[in-house]
Amino acid sequence: MRRVFSHPNSMIVGSMASLLNYAGIETEIRNDILGGAAGEIAPGETWVELWVVKEARAEQAAQLIKEILEQPEGDDWICQHCQESNPATFDVCWQCGQPS
Ligand SMILES: [Zn+2]
Repeated sequence: MRRVFSHPNSMIVGSMASLLNYAGIETEIRNDILGGAAGEIAPGETWVELWVVKEARAEQAAQLIKEILEQPEGDDWICQHCQESNPATFDVCWQCGQPS
């Protein structure tokens, strides 16, 4: 197991996990306040972590994440569901999870 990404917004971490899963990389999300263990964690204080299950895939995952984060800004898209603005690299709304 290796941690490859973390972010305070679990939707963004979830979106990143989907992209890695799509590339065939098995991931696990930790510290997700929506996913239990909420009693001990104050919302907003804990970053959600994305872990790659297989060490051998960690380098590939890190590279993919780097590419995603460094992609030149495309046009943001507006969610049809909640009207939130989303970066072009996200294929689901970071706020409500609605696909673009
Ligand atoms: Zn939305």
